[in-house]
Amino acid sequence: MDLSSSTFSVDFKRLSPGFHQRRISARGVGFDLFIWRGGDGPVLVLNGATHGDEYEGPTLLRQWAEHWRPKSLCGTVVMIPVLNEAAYYAGLRSAPADDVNLARAFPGKPRGSVTQRLAHLFDTQILAQATHYVDLHSAGRAYELLPWTGFITHEPTLNRTQRTMAACFDAFWCWEGPYLSGRTLSAAYNRNLPAIYVECRGTGDVDPRDLRALDRGLHHLLAELGCVRSKRIAKLRPQILRTTRDADEAHLQIHHPAPHDGLFVPSVKVGAHVRRGAKLGRVHPLGKRGGSTIQAERKGRIVMLRIQRSVRAGDALCTLAPI
Ligand SMILES: [Zn+2]
Repeated sequence: MDLSSSTFSVDFKRLSPGFHQRRISARGVGFDLFIWRGGDGPVLVLNGATHGDEYEGPTLLRQWAEHWRPKSLCGTVVMIPVLNEAAYYAGLRSAPADDVNLARAFPGKPRGSVTQRLAHLFDTQILAQATHYVDLHSAGRAYELLPWTGFITHEPTLNRTQRTMAACFDAFWCWEGPYLSGRTLSAAYNRNLPAIYVECRGTGDVDPRDLRALDRGLHHLLAELGCVRSKRIAKLRPQILRTTRDADEAHLQIHHPAPHDGLFVPSVKVGAHVRRGAKLGRVHPLGKRGGSTIQAERKGRIVMLRIQRSVRAGDALCTLAPI
């Protein structure tokens, strides 16, 4: 393995064939990369921990960094297990220094806050070199979700590529939606870079089922892009696809907000189908009797649910999708 000290940038095309480890940093922010350099071909970038309390991506990518040594490789594969180190080491969604959500900070600013600088570094030094991109997320510590993959609707040719990439993660359902600003995927969109995200179960842990599903998805994706020749991956399973033009539908932080501070007691489970008006749970204020019943805003399936019982007014409690 080629180990080297931190640099501001790495030109993937100039690396010799083989496995490399690098660190990129600038103005007090940085991250570690594992790079497999093969012949000409796609440049596939994957990262975990855009949010610091999501552990499935880091776990998967660390496993690959330890064990994956392909006999032959077309193109270049770049894995960044932990993109947002400040948030990761704090065990929080966002970096404590500025409390800015990295998934709202793109394209970032070279002289902004720590998170804005990180977004700028990743966008200009990594996404700028990619031909395909996968951002591995999860529900984090405070939520549980029904794992899915998704992407921003783009022009038809690029969209077909994204749909093909998402279909590789065939253990998950797929959510295609319109552009929302600030995300890693928004930065990819603006660069005409085919990009998908994956959302794993969360709960602050790593479910072995999700890890297996991600691993299978990544094998499929590498074969699909022609990076590796693989015979051992089975046929893709059909995937539920939900396409929406409603920008709010997959905006997870806005649905069923807690009406006040208190204790949330859910009365449903992730994956359940509910009708409009169904009781999803109750929020009990501390220090007084009673509480507020949370009712389903629409008919649908519970795809994300708050599991952290302490809630502040405005915290999202539940997301429903029509799948
Ligand atoms: Zn996330």
